[in-house]
Amino acid sequence: MKTRLARFPFVKTLEQFDFSFQPALNEAQIRELAAARFVAHGENILLLGPPGVGKTHLAVSLGVAAIMQGISVVFFTVADLVDLVQQDVKEDRLERRLHALSKPKLLILDEMGYVPLDQRSAQFLFRLISRRYQKGSIILTSNKSYGEWGDVVSDYVLATAMLDRLLHFSTTINIRGESYRLREKRKAGVFHDLTAKPVKSGASASRKTQEEGSSSANGRYDGL
Ligand code: ADP
Ligand code: MG
Repeated sequence: MKTRLARFPFVKTLEQFDFSFQPALNEAQIRELAAARFVAHGENILLLGPPGVGKTHLAVSLGVAAIMQGISVVFFTVADLVDLVQQDVKEDRLERRLHALSKPKLLILDEMGYVPLDQRSAQFLFRLISRRYQKGSIILTSNKSYGEWGDVVSDYVLATAMLDRLLHFSTTINIRGESYRLREKRKAGVFHDLTAKPVKSGASASRKTQEEGSSSANGRYDGL
């Protein structure tokens, strides 16, 4: 029941996460976080990395683990939040929404960085983060490094203020590995075929693309 109320996009647990696929990830650290002590202290977790590396899976798993311990959890994507804010402004219930989202002990905000935030949504997010500061935990996932938040929020001052509060009591987990989604596609031959098509020497060209992809991802996330 509580899992349904949390509005997870899917329900997956830590047991379903293949740590051997992300060897750079500290499994002991993730398991420690699943004990949900960070929630008791109002601390935040930031999961950063490129698409497909398991950020949402880990965020949901930690949410499910928290629910098992009787902690209230709500899951939103940042895109959902932007939609809600637009709707709430029309229906004059933004303050009520802010109040409601301040309540759960753990709020999961997924996919910061995929959609740009309009000014109203950015201000709402800032107020939400401020309200929850040291009181309610946030797990936030993002494909962007902190340095890029100014672009997402279109306001560098606001982005800095958000990060200031989010990061004060927090754990950042950087996932640098390969996309699990593409690995599955590659196994099925789809990804390989797509990349191989335009070039004659398909195999070597696709290998090169993958290498370039992973090194640029590393470059970005090393620069945090
Ligand atoms: P992200 O949020 O980083 O884009 P997801 O968490 O949505 O990635 O992962 C994409 C899909 O791959 C999901 O179905 C997820 O369960 C699965 N997945 C990702 N990483 C792993 C892993 N290490 N072990 C098992 N499944 C994984
Ligand atoms: Mg995701």
